[in-house]
Amino acid sequence: MPRGQYAQRVTSVDLRTLRLRPGEVRQQTLDVVLEPFVLGGQHYEAVPATIPVALEISQASGATVFDMQLEAHLTGACMRCLGFAEVVAGVRAREFHDFDAPPADELHSDYVVNDHLELGAWARDAVALELPEQILCREDCAGLCPVCGKDLNFDPHEHLEREPDPRWAALEGFLQDP
Ligand SMILES: [Zn+2]
Ligand SMILES: [Zn+2]
Repeated sequence: MPRGQYAQRVTSVDLRTLRLRPGEVRQQTLDVVLEPFVLGGQHYEAVPATIPVALEISQASGATVFDMQLEAHLTGACMRCLGFAEVVAGVRAREFHDFDAPPADELHSDYVVNDHLELGAWARDAVALELPEQILCREDCAGLCPVCGKDLNFDPHEHLEREPDPRWAALEGFLQDP
């Protein structure tokens, strides 16, 4: 099969041949494809979608240590005004895994499946954790007018107050009476 014909969407690292002595460090950089994230009904795409992920594998007492580092740029709609928004997620994450630990054990990483490190899934989860609750075009985005729907960033305005409530008018009249 010619290389590159079928893009590998899920990046995993085969750990079966990994033989690390304590203190030994294995470093590699792998390309991971980030599928779009859906937040509040909006899609946020990684640009570029394929990002280099730096992976460092080392051996600590009784466990293999995975350190991951990446930077993802996501673009999509501002959650206030629907304009263009970009967010940069810088990720540093660490997982421990003991190959002899049972699945429920603290030293069993959920990202190690059948002796493979599921780097793609881990990278995606780690980016999701770094995303702010609100993705905005800028921190002080004024948003859309709740009355007419116009973009308040380009067209700052207020609407005139409606007719005063007749009950207040009556009360005012009452207070003004001698
Ligand atoms: Zn905005
Ligand atoms: Zn308005």
